[in-house]
Amino acid sequence: MNKIALIGSVSLEILKRQIEYIQSIFPDMSITLISCKKIENLFNVEYRHVNGNSFSKDIDFDFSEFSTIFVCQNNNVVQNYQNVYEFLIHNGINSFKIIYPDLKIKIFGKNTYFLKKKFLSLLEKINFFLKCYGKNYFCPFCNKTSRKMLPTGVKSEFFKKYNVIGGGYRENALCPHCGSFDRERLLYLFLKENTSIFTDKNSVLHMAPEKRLTEILKQNRQIEYYTCDLYSQDVMYNMDITDLKFEDNKFDIIICNHVLEHIDNDIKAMKELYRVLKKDGKAILQVPLALNIQNTYEDRSVIDEDERENKFGQKDHVRIYGMDYMDRLRSVGFSVFEWKTGPEVRERYSLIDKEFIIWVTK
Ligand SMILES: [Zn+2]
Repeated sequence: MNKIALIGSVSLEILKRQIEYIQSIFPDMSITLISCKKIENLFNVEYRHVNGNSFSKDIDFDFSEFSTIFVCQNNNVVQNYQNVYEFLIHNGINSFKIIYPDLKIKIFGKNTYFLKKKFLSLLEKINFFLKCYGKNYFCPFCNKTSRKMLPTGVKSEFFKKYNVIGGGYRENALCPHCGSFDRERLLYLFLKENTSIFTDKNSVLHMAPEKRLTEILKQNRQIEYYTCDLYSQDVMYNMDITDLKFEDNKFDIIICNHVLEHIDNDIKAMKELYRVLKKDGKAILQVPLALNIQNTYEDRSVIDEDERENKFGQKDHVRIYGMDYMDRLRSVGFSVFEWKTGPEVRERYSLIDKEFIIWVTK
């Protein structure tokens, strides 16, 4: 078994140097380069392709013909080579050699790797503690405080230009403990202060349900709770919002947020929601709303994803709602209301500054 296996993702220039060095110190051994990329014939060595775009702990590979394994690395950051190490360990390799760009060689193995990994997760916890521990913000979902919440959203020129609420990049959006979103926290506050959803017997339809809210609603044993989405496997019913299979006047409360902007015939969807809502029932129907556009902009001929992103703000949106959104809701029969919290609450719960709840009744 005079064969060496060589693995790693480094630049070709560095790899060339590493291969030449290994050849010089093991002149009698043949080298096989194992790679996920198609780089055969670039070097004067045997080449073996591994399926997949990158190494992973799920890929089987037979190393029995090799006596020595080298991992070629650009640096010694363990996380960067986690896939490679786990690929090796998965295939029974407990000890291997690492070669760095300066041609230093180090023996590495399963035990060292797991020890380093443990140490890194400890470092991560310390980092989290230093960054987020504190009392500035409060999350109603997990009842925990934090000094800083985590950023989310895409920095979008479109959202900025049209002053769109309910999206875009936010610095303090995600609860670092449970991952609740700013808009979920606003919704939670609305439901708590303006409905009996957490305490009384209500029939509730939750379309495209928010995960954390679902978990909390399920804790109210009295609730008659229906979750619904067109495709998701995590809901009770897969239904088209323009064709709901429920009887008229069934629900006390409907929660349907960030759905209508995806629906071609949103008026038909609104009519369906109106039909299944009880008289005096409440529905919360949030959408991304462009505060400085009066008339909703839609164009059915735009089906290309990039064009949709340019015109409507997101690849899977079919329109951008302007301030006439409320008129659309009224056109199917709803009475429309807006609800906003005070500045202190917004600050405490780290809510989106301009966001307010649009709710309707029948
Ligand atoms: Zn939380």
